[in-house]
Formats: sequence, structure tokens, C-alpha cells
Amino acid sequence: MIKQFCSERDWDQFHGPKELAIGLVTESSELLELFRFQSEAQIEGLLSQSESRTKVADELADIYFFLLRFADLNGFDLAASLESKMQKNREKYPVEKSKGKNQKYTEL
Ligand SMILES: [Mg+2]
Repeated sequence: MIKQFCSERDWDQFHGPKELAIGLVTESSELLELFRFQSEAQIEGLLSQSESRTKVADELADIYFFLLRFADLNGFDLAASLESKMQKNREKYPVEKSKGKNQKYTEL
């Protein structure tokens, strides 16, 4: 779907790794912006109302778009990368040291 969308618009020429990484961060910032200056209660409300949930869903989709696009055009297998990284995370954050804690692994 993404390939077809971009191909129809001749956008491959604009999708170098740097531009896609910028797009990923930009869209992540747009997600963050939805929560800016919001209290925990306001965020709870935002996530429970249909219209604002759609805004969040749209930003998540934008992030997903850039993530998939970057991986596809640069030969990354996201499923394999996630599996590999989660194994590294398991080693960095062993359950016995990290359960119930939110410190970085270097602080455990
Ligand atoms: Mg967006």
C-alpha cells in the first residue's frame, strides 16, 4: 500500500534515509504535541474521545508509515530487528533487576 502510494506520486526520489529519519522524528513530535501541556486527566480524556483518538491514531499511522518506508527502502527486516533488539533488552533488563523499576539499565 505504501509502495504503491509513493510510486504513484513519484516520491521515491524524496525518500533517502536522512529524509525518512527526519520524517519519523517529525511525526513522532506531532504525536508528542498532542500531549503538550496536558495534565494526566486531560490525556486520559484525550484518549477516550473519538475525535482526539483519531488524531492520535493518525500520528501513529504517520510514524508507522515512515518506519516501514525506511525499513523497506533500506533493506531492514523489522520483525527480525525487533526480535534481536528485544533479546538485547532482555539481557540489559533482567527481570530480577528491573521488575517494577524504570531506571535505565546502567542505573540498575
Ligand atoms: Mg502527522
